[in-house]
Amino acid sequence: MTTPLAETPTDGIAAAALIEKRPLERYVAPAKPSLVGMSRDALAAAFGAIGVPERRQRMRVQQAWQWLYVRGAQDFDEMTTLSKELRTALAQNFTLARPDVAAEQISVDGTRKWLVRLPGEAADRPHEVECVYIPETDRGTLCISSQVGCTLNCTFCHTGTQRLVRNLTPAEIVGQVVLARDRLSDWQRAAGGGEADKRLVSNVVMMGMGEPLYNFEAVRDGLNVVADGDGLSISKRRITLSTSGVVPNIARAGAEIGVMLAVSLHAVTDELRNELVPLNRKYPLRELLDACRNYPGLSNARRVTFEYVMLKGINDSLADARALVHLVKGIPAKINLIPFNPWPGSSYECSDWEQIEKFSEIVFNAGYASPVRTPRGRDILAACGQLKSATEKLSARERLALRAMAMTD
Ligand code: SAH
Ligand code: SF4
Repeated sequence: MTTPLAETPTDGIAAAALIEKRPLERYVAPAKPSLVGMSRDALAAAFGAIGVPERRQRMRVQQAWQWLYVRGAQDFDEMTTLSKELRTALAQNFTLARPDVAAEQISVDGTRKWLVRLPGEAADRPHEVECVYIPETDRGTLCISSQVGCTLNCTFCHTGTQRLVRNLTPAEIVGQVVLARDRLSDWQRAAGGGEADKRLVSNVVMMGMGEPLYNFEAVRDGLNVVADGDGLSISKRRITLSTSGVVPNIARAGAEIGVMLAVSLHAVTDELRNELVPLNRKYPLRELLDACRNYPGLSNARRVTFEYVMLKGINDSLADARALVHLVKGIPAKINLIPFNPWPGSSYECSDWEQIEKFSEIVFNAGYASPVRTPRGRDILAACGQLKSATEKLSARERLALRAMAMTD
């Protein structure tokens, strides 16, 4: 028996394919630890625990690394460069389990959303986060989560309304990339690979649920596995971490992670930003912009992305646009204008399209790339700010309303 994620789609919303939502009873928290998502150090310790002497651990880790992160092995028997005995010992003590996919939805535009089930405090109360794959002509971007829920309360963001918060582990962060590659059959099939063997998941953005810089160590360790050139191999220039402005950890991210930085700006005065992004009261605009200016390695080819959600009558005047370019002056930057995605209970409206275009033109004429983020996956609620565990707080009626809102415009 399958439980649907949402009600039978109504007319006009029928396009998204829903591939079952697995019922809770089938969720069993893993008994043995999984090697999937482990760092090299953790893997070495795992080999140590089953008796591999220290002098051999590095080589074994290198071999396992290939199977885990290049070939995507799902069974220890595939790991033919390891001896039969070693494979048996691994299988007795570990698994190759991925995070559990509770549901998959595919949008008419090719966007895919996975509802990912993670262990909770009690075995029958798992947590859920979402992970979204967005195919484009020149790249495939995977949007991953860093926390279940978010402790911050940006007034326009749906995730911020969620009660439950726990940090994802590094393995759960890596696990989202692994499960996306599984679902997309995006592993290197044979040794060697070659140019023709391009990956579908070419970019990763940490713009899903949660504030990544409030889960710093796990995000750092997880992203370093994702970026490892001998494994998942998504280079740091193709990984973007988005923060609402946790100033002290921006410098740390530059030093210890080194991925591309995106900052959720959304307002040009402290007064308005205090309201939209309450964290601004702790780290006001001047400090935030200084941290951006000092982010290591910035150049015209490596720019900070400023995200700016377009809220009708709130932050979208042409004077705001001019103030925006003035504010970021001197920082190699691009400005990403995000049409506001409404959700039930939200008090904002998205700016009119004409206004977004005029706003964008001012930013562009001042010398900044100003792409408007095209809403993707709206029919499956995968667009920005709509990431929220379907079972957490939404009533069936709210879910339906959310879908309907997403489909009108
Ligand atoms: N917590 C981090 C990353 C996750 S949010 C951050 O705030 O940066 C990813 C982006 O989506 C952020 O820029 C966020 O401000 C934006 N966002 C949140 N809710 C939105 C909504 N309803 N419509 C459009 N963008 C939204
Ligand atoms: Fe949290 Fe980001 Fe949403 Fe703000 S916008 S509540 S920081 S997820």
